Amino acid sequence: MATINNNYLKLKAGYLFPEIARRVNTFAQANPDAPIIRLGIGDVTEPLPLACRTAMTNAIEDMGDREKFKGYGPEQGYAWLREAIATNDFQARGCDIDASEIFISDGSKCDCGNILDIFGHDNTIAVTDPVYPVYVDTNVMAGNTGDANEQGEYGGLVYLPITTANDFTAQIPTEKVDLIYLCFPNNPTGATATKAHLQAWVDYAKAHGSIIFFDAAYEAFITDPSLPHSIYEIEGARDCAIEFRSFSKNAGFTGTRCALTVVPKTLTAKAADGSDVELWKLWNRRQSTKFNGVSYIIQRGAEAVYSTAGKAQVKELIGFYMENAKIIRAELTAAGLEVHGGINAPYVWVKTPDGLSSWDFFDKLLTNCHVVGTPGSGFGAAGEGYFRISAFNSRANVEEAMKRITAKFKA
Ligand SMILES: *Cc1c(COP(=O)(O)O)cnc(C)c1O
Repeated sequence: MATINNNYLKLKAGYLFPEIARRVNTFAQANPDAPIIRLGIGDVTEPLPLACRTAMTNAIEDMGDREKFKGYGPEQGYAWLREAIATNDFQARGCDIDASEIFISDGSKCDCGNILDIFGHDNTIAVTDPVYPVYVDTNVMAGNTGDANEQGEYGGLVYLPITTANDFTAQIPTEKVDLIYLCFPNNPTGATATKAHLQAWVDYAKAHGSIIFFDAAYEAFITDPSLPHSIYEIEGARDCAIEFRSFSKNAGFTGTRCALTVVPKTLTAKAADGSDVELWKLWNRRQSTKFNGVSYIIQRGAEAVYSTAGKAQVKELIGFYMENAKIIRAELTAAGLEVHGGINAPYVWVKTPDGLSSWDFFDKLLTNCHVVGTPGSGFGAAGEGYFRISAFNSRANVEEAMKRITAKFKA
């Protein structure tokens, strides 16, 4: 008789987004004429930059030319894309990262989960609270946790609260943890980490032999020049950090799929016999066996992000979303709400008024303003009493949603 991976039975049944959909559908059925605006899901809305589309169109032509046609590409990604990334995203910021340490993939979401393939099941794992749910669920699937409690917290994981008490930066644990997930600029809170904060993390990781998984999916949204874009801007990070990056949010590739993971060759972890093993070798082996690379066409599109035209168009795209964020922050503040984030990230983290729970505020916004956001409690127990509003939308939708909220909440 075939058996299943029983760890899947521990998963909380994808509670957040299905529950949002259920409540929105119920409301929409009862109020078919209500013009609902969705500021909930973390997906981009604006078209792909022209430079990327042109590069992809040219790449399609290459595929129709016997001389230029490409079959299987390198599992690690084409050298020209890895070189462009190494030069522009890392070396230009003073990060000592070589193209050979960059692995191209079809998404950071996949890589965040896949990376667990090369780590043991005996690691102590820390996540922030609130957190991007992928980090937690992939550890549950891998068998790295116990069961969930009432609040959805899994046994065996160390939860590090991100709250007003620590200015929305992740609390450095007092105990020893082996693997740590950090995401800055943060989804869902929009919070950022200073160089000093990341230095404290790197120092902690080096002192304990821990590995940091640094998710920099939102680095392009940083406006404050003093903030680090990469963990490799921090002294010592080559010895303790893996960085995940994606073209999803900066260049609008959520539907196109291209991302990268950086595994420095200086990174090691312990084998059962006590020896130090290079993580680069394991990840290279893992990718070569289980992955066959990203489409040539898509990699050409990603390469165009680093062209002069591509850089200007991505900058404009980010500027557009950040203007949305600025409007959201200003309007909600004027309406008397307490807001965080939205300055170096496309997410605004709103304190619910009058002590409302995250879900009560969700219902109130939906019923009174026909606006959909994301309840903070869906990202973890410490998110209770908060609400995420996304800047990924058209200007008209953002302005209309803010008009309705201000009308409702401004006394
Ligand atoms: C959107 C997002 C990503 C990017 O995921 P892809 O699979 O590359 O689209 C990674 N991390 C976080 C926290 C995100 O919100």
